[in-house]
Amino acid sequence: METYDVIIIGAGHNGLVCAGYLLKSGYSVLLLEKRSVVGGAATTEEAMPEEVPGFYFNLCAIDHEFIHLGPVVEELELTKFGLEYLYCDPTIFCPHPDGKYFLAHRSVEKTCAEIARYSQRDAQKYREYMDFWHRLIQAITPIFNAPPKSIIDILGNWGLLRLRKRSRLGRS
Ligand SMILES: Cc1cc2nc3c(=O)[nH]c(=O)nc-3n(C[C@H](O)[C@H](O)[C@H](O)COP(=O)(O)OP(=O)(O)OC[C@H]3O[C@@H](n4cnc5c(N)ncnc54)[C@H](O)[C@@H]3O)c2cc1C
Repeated sequence: METYDVIIIGAGHNGLVCAGYLLKSGYSVLLLEKRSVVGGAATTEEAMPEEVPGFYFNLCAIDHEFIHLGPVVEELELTKFGLEYLYCDPTIFCPHPDGKYFLAHRSVEKTCAEIARYSQRDAQKYREYMDFWHRLIQAITPIFNAPPKSIIDILGNWGLLRLRKRSRLGRS
């Protein structure tokens, strides 16, 4: 009977990443997946082969933002093994029956210009909202790259004052 140092049940992205790091550290790993495809809720699959053959969908996890805050892609050399991110731009197209439409872009400035076609105030508010998110992401990034700790230690890592300042909505 074959034996393994570690058995992982479920080849979602957490199981896969965990297996990758364990293998890199020299452990033998058995990763068990009940479906015929790996990736769990983060897969890209031909979900409607009869209705739209050849079209691939992200079934659940469509926004892969936080993975880029950590070193996983580089450390596991995922691009070498075929990982490729396809970035759409425009990111959102909202057509309206009266012929008007709205396009969101990867660029905040371009998106604000688009919103301003309908409301200058909303464009300004969107800019403030994105600024808030940018500061909040910077504030929470340390947690992605730090070993798991108690919530008290995590808050200590962040610095409560720093976190409060960065997560304040609107310009300070
Ligand atoms: C609708 C939806 C939208 C989401 N959108 C986003 C998003 O935009 N961005 C984002 O970052 N996250 C998103 N998430 C969250 C993200 O999908 C999950 O956090 C992530 O998939 C969790 O990964 P995981 O490996 O822990 O579990 P899962 O991805 O759920 O993988 C678990 C795996 O275990 C397998 N399994 C279960 N039981 C067994 C068993 N007994 N034996 C063998 N295999 C088993 C399953 O088949 C599956 O492959 C979304 C989730 C949902 C549901």
